[in-house]
Amino acid sequence: MSEEILLNVKNIKKKYGEIEALKGIDLEVKKGEVVVILGPSGCGKSTFLRCLNGLEDISEGEIILNNYGILGKEVEFEKVRGTIGMVFQSYELFPHMNVINNILLGPTKAQNRSKEEVEKEADELLKRVGLFNRKYAYPRELSGGQKQRIAIVRALCMNPEIMLFDEVTAALDPEMVREVLMVLLELAQNGMTMVVVTHELEFAKHVADKIVFMEEGKIVEESSPKEFFENPKTERAKSFLSSFDLYK
Ligand code: ADP
Repeated sequence: MSEEILLNVKNIKKKYGEIEALKGIDLEVKKGEVVVILGPSGCGKSTFLRCLNGLEDISEGEIILNNYGILGKEVEFEKVRGTIGMVFQSYELFPHMNVINNILLGPTKAQNRSKEEVEKEADELLKRVGLFNRKYAYPRELSGGQKQRIAIVRALCMNPEIMLFDEVTAALDPEMVREVLMVLLELAQNGMTMVVVTHELEFAKHVADKIVFMEEGKIVEESSPKEFFENPKTERAKSFLSSFDLYK
């Protein structure tokens, strides 16, 4: 991880009518850093990622992307859409397109890159996630874990500087969770800057440089994984962690 700050979030707030989903979030993400966001359902994790990627307007605050400027003000999100890649819980592949066409769509249409150039990159990425042999398959012919790995390749093909992952294993059968987490781990180890929302605590412990724990629209703890898992500071984090110990 370098000391260069890639993404700087300053006091962002988000309201849905009367509901204050984000109540002032500050966060710095360094180049190559893996930030894992934990917290109970409804605390604002997903809203936060969606704001970072411009899928939601923020009500207040600033999101500054290094080398570009303030997103939504100086820089249109559309212009940097590929720079901040995002993968969701559901894969959102186009069902009528095969794998390679799903992958090529963004880079060739939104980024105007040549099909040949992107396809070469896509082939390499498909090999990296172990799915080169499914290049011409349709989404319906793939398992959930495979679809999710393709969704990751599709986002990576836009050459993002930072990747956001919103509970990408939550909809998967347990045996497929691992194959997707292994892809995330490999990305992290190769220096990708990542913000990851997950409920996979063992994975979080292993992969995170920094754990951010949210409660009711705020960050209430920000620490190293070791510190967070061994010595959580707030009662809310303690009870959150103990809820995972039910069957241990
Ligand atoms: P998490 O990802 O931590 O489960 P969310 O970000 O999905 O939490 O939700 C945070 C809060 O914002 C919740 O109270 C939720 O009901 C509310 N919320 C999220 N999306 C919307 C929306 N599109 N319209 C209204 N309220 C929303």
